[in-house]
Amino acid sequence: MKAFAIGTELCAQIAAEAHTAYPRECCGLIEGVREGEAVRATTLHPTSNIAEAQDRFEIDPREQFRLMREGRDVVGCYHSHPNGRAAPSARDAEYAFAGDFIWLIAGATDSLAAYVWDGARFMSVAMTRDGRSRAP
Ligand SMILES: [Zn+2]
Repeated sequence: MKAFAIGTELCAQIAAEAHTAYPRECCGLIEGVREGEAVRATTLHPTSNIAEAQDRFEIDPREQFRLMREGRDVVGCYHSHPNGRAAPSARDAEYAFAGDFIWLIAGATDSLAAYVWDGARFMSVAMTRDGRSRAP
């Protein structure tokens, strides 16, 4: 995966969810379309955070399966680090799997960064924010 594109209104949605969930982490799934080597987010699906600890996230699998049953193309996930940086934590690495699956992380200051897991580590993905929120 070469690049990840997301509309500014979706970025604002994540920031709002992060503020609402604070001090817990917000989380959700990213529906999107593939545009050649790039992926564009089209819709964010907020999901329940079923993790018991405050400083982690766990997406309810029932919500993920529902999206898959509906035939939606889930291209990644997002979550917030309420007091941290927009970078994957060691705990995030425990759940990562190799592939073109975007990990979008919101940091404490509304920063936002995208990563993919290459099998050994998280790699930063170039991210474009623009006014387009929907696929053409
Ligand atoms: Zn994390």
